[in-house]
Amino acid sequence: MDADVIVIGAGIAGLQTARRLEAGGRSVLVLEAEDAVGGRIRTDRVDGFLVDRGFQVLNPAYPAVRRWIDVPELGIQRFGVGAIVRSGDRTTRLAHPARHPQHLLSTVTSGIVAPRDALALARWLGPTLLDARVASRAEHDETLRASLDRAGLTGPLRRDVLDTFLAGVLADADGATSANYARLLLRAFALGAPGLPRAGMQALPEQLAAGLAAPVRLGTAARELRERTDAVEVVTDTGRLRARAAVVAVGPQHVGDLTSLPTPETHGLTTWWFRATGRPRTGPFLVLDASRPGGGPAGPVQHTAAISEAAPSYAPAGRALVEATTLLDRSGEHAGEEDVRRDLARLYGTSTRRWEVLAHHVLPHTTPAQPPGPIAREPAWTGERTLVTGDHRATASIQGALVAGSQAARAVARALG
Ligand SMILES: Cc1cc2nc3c(=O)[nH]c(=O)nc-3n(C[C@H](O)[C@H](O)[C@H](O)COP(=O)(O)OP(=O)(O)OC[C@H]3O[C@@H](n4cnc5c(N)ncnc54)[C@H](O)[C@@H]3O)c2cc1C
Repeated sequence: MDADVIVIGAGIAGLQTARRLEAGGRSVLVLEAEDAVGGRIRTDRVDGFLVDRGFQVLNPAYPAVRRWIDVPELGIQRFGVGAIVRSGDRTTRLAHPARHPQHLLSTVTSGIVAPRDALALARWLGPTLLDARVASRAEHDETLRASLDRAGLTGPLRRDVLDTFLAGVLADADGATSANYARLLLRAFALGAPGLPRAGMQALPEQLAAGLAAPVRLGTAARELRERTDAVEVVTDTGRLRARAAVVAVGPQHVGDLTSLPTPETHGLTTWWFRATGRPRTGPFLVLDASRPGGGPAGPVQHTAAISEAAPSYAPAGRALVEATTLLDRSGEHAGEEDVRRDLARLYGTSTRRWEVLAHHVLPHTTPAQPPGPIAREPAWTGERTLVTGDHRATASIQGALVAGSQAARAVARALG
C-alpha cells in the first residue's frame, strides 16, 4: 500500500480531508493535477499586484473557518460591512450600523431603506440572524426570489441592493438559489467582516497544506480509479498507486471523470482586474450599481471594489487595484472589456481609458448550484472504497468545502475501522 487513503484534489475540501485523516493517525497521499494547491482559490502576482483567480473573500465568521483555520496568521484585511450604491449621479453609502456608526445617518436617510422594506427584511432574516439553525434545519425551503416576494420585500432595498448583491455572491441572476442558504450567507456577512489575507486568498489552502505530513504531489492527475477486493488503485500518468480508500475531491465539474455520479450543475462569474489611475474614493466598500430604471445594474458589472482600499497588500504602495465582477450566463456569454470600462467610469466617476487590465478570469464553475432543499448534503460513497466530497456535497462555499472535508475524513475513518 502507498498510503491508508489517497485524496484526489488539493482544494479546500481535499486538504481538509487529508488533515483530519492525519490527525486521526492515518497515512494520506494527496494528488493534485495543477502546479499548486488551492483549486478554485489561487493567487497570482502580476506586475507587483496580487490577483486572485476570481474575486472572492474569506469570511472569518464561518463556523468552520473559526474552528479549523488560524485566521490571525493569515492577516485578514477587511472590507466594510455594507455597500456603496450608485444610482445615476447619486451615491449612497449603506453600512452596518454597529460596525460603521459614522455612516448611520447616510444609511437611514438614503431613501433606499424604506421602513416597510426594513421590517420585511427583519422578519425574513431576523430569526436566522439570532440562530443559524432556523435556516439550516428548516423543513420548508423555496427559491430566493419567491421567498423575498412572499416576505413583501419589494422596494428599493430589494431592487437596488439585495438582488444585485446576492446575484454577484451566488453567481445566480435568477434568484433560483435556496432562500435558506441565502439567509445563512447573509447571516455570515452580517456577523463577520469578510476580507483578504495579506498574501492573497491562496494563503488559505497553503496554510492547510503546510500542516500535512507528506507534501501534496503536484502535477499528478488521477486518470482512473479501480476498486480491488483489498484496495483501491489510482492510475496516474506516472504509474499506479494503491490505498485502502480513495477520496475524490476534484470539484463539481470533474466528478464525472472519475466516478459514476452525475455532474452537479454549476454557476459562473468573470472577474476583471484593473490597475486604476488615481485613488478610488469608495473606501473599503463593495460598489453596487442601481442605475437601471426599475433598479439593479444598468450594465454588465454586478459589483466592483477598490481592492487596494480594503487590502493594501494587494497593490504596490501608492497604486490602486480595482476588481469588477460580471455574471456568466448559461451559454457562457460574457461582457466585453469596453462595456465593463464604461460601467466602471460611471461607478467611480472618472475616466477608465488609462486603466490597465492586469487579468481577466472566466470561471464557468465558480460554485455548484444550491437549489431549494436540505442545506446539508453529505459526501457520497460510489463504491466500497471510494468517497466523493467537495463543496457540491455540502454548501457552495469555503465553509461548505471545509465541512465536506471534515465529514469525508470521519466517514473514511469509520469505514477503515
Ligand atoms: C470566483 C469565485 C468566487 C468565490 N467566492 C467565494 C466567496 O466569496 N466565499 C466563499 O465562501 N466561497 C467562494 N467561492 C467558492 C469557494 O472557492 C469554493 O467553494 C471552494 O474553494 C471549493 O473547494 P473544493 O475543494 O470543494 O473544490 P476545488 O477548489 O474545485 O478543488 C478541486 C481540486 O481538484 C483538482 N483536480 C481535479 N481533477 C483532478 C484529478 N483528476 N486529479 C487530481 N486533481 C484533480 C483541481 O485541480 C482542484 O485543485 C468562490 C469561488 C470562485 C471561483
